[in-house]
Amino acid sequence: MQALAVFPSKKTVRLVDVPKPQLQDATGVLLRVREVGLCGTDREIISFEHGSPPPGSDRLILGHESLAEVVEVGRSVQSLRPGDLVVAIVRRPCSHPECRPCLAGRSDFCITGQFTERGIKEADGFLTDYALDDEEYLVKVPKPLADVAVLIEPLTVVAKAVVQARAILDRLPYEPGLQRGLVLGAGPIGLLGAMALVANGYETVVYSREPDESDRSKLIHSVGASYVSASSQPLETLTERTGEFDVILEAVGFAPVMMAASRLLRANGVAVLTGIPGEGAATEITVGRSLRDLVLKNQVVFGTVNAGRRDYVSAIQQLEQFMTLFPESTRTLITHRVPLSEASRMLTHGDGIKNVVQLNLRAA
Ligand SMILES: [Zn+2]
Ligand SMILES: [Zn+2]
Repeated sequence: MQALAVFPSKKTVRLVDVPKPQLQDATGVLLRVREVGLCGTDREIISFEHGSPPPGSDRLILGHESLAEVVEVGRSVQSLRPGDLVVAIVRRPCSHPECRPCLAGRSDFCITGQFTERGIKEADGFLTDYALDDEEYLVKVPKPLADVAVLIEPLTVVAKAVVQARAILDRLPYEPGLQRGLVLGAGPIGLLGAMALVANGYETVVYSREPDESDRSKLIHSVGASYVSASSQPLETLTERTGEFDVILEAVGFAPVMMAASRLLRANGVAVLTGIPGEGAATEITVGRSLRDLVLKNQVVFGTVNAGRRDYVSAIQQLEQFMTLFPESTRTLITHRVPLSEASRMLTHGDGIKNVVQLNLRAA
């Protein structure tokens, strides 16, 4: 079978032949991969800015946004059976005995940095026909979600952000009433974030670069959020038009936008950062007002990365809710489906929102 692999030392990306894996462990699960979503992380890996092969190998098989079908299970596997649909948790624990988050099954909060990530860091991904995994890292997906379930992994980032933001808002000594949410950025995470805020009852605004009359702005309106284009309103004066926000979800990864986020908050508000700016990013802004506001208005700005099993379960519930509230808009997020032979081209030249590689096309 074939797999899409990156060779960081040779600076190449190509299809390679790999043997079909065989089930070995009692808790092992053999998977037939159905779909793999592509994202900015994959683009960084094929630009050799990010990602590393498993120890002892010169190549990393790509693909972390998985949807697969269980083919065979080891004799100790309890929760899965052949035919089940699953999504694999991306991050895997480090082996340090003192890393409490990893010991508690929350490697997304790993404190050593020695975790691995399938398709990203020291563990092969899913851009191939068959893959092995362990029951512990697979989350079962309800079959009615099959045609959109490849969105679950990116949605976990949003689901975790919502759970963490809610924990911070829960500290407030009063019932907040109707809340206003802002999403910065209209990429896949931003759009999923807008759907999540609407589904959670927020009056939601999305702010991004795309023009006011674009496909993405139509999609945003179709879920009941409003859209403001950066071309018609500078970020600094956004709240003059929209009012201030209780919750902000940043999904841009551009340092000046990230630094400006807290200025758009209402008193007691919380801003969640999910974008990853370049290490050398610099911005000339006056931080005095932001810092004064953080203190004088009880505001919180925090970052979140990756997701644990609980967030996968919450993402699945969220996706079920999306399919009740706005099924067509949810399906519209998936813009292209291509075979493995076109995955590399799709990563370098693809447009659209969420592009997906379909595996096992002959078997399907
Ligand atoms: Zn991704
Ligand atoms: Zn750890």
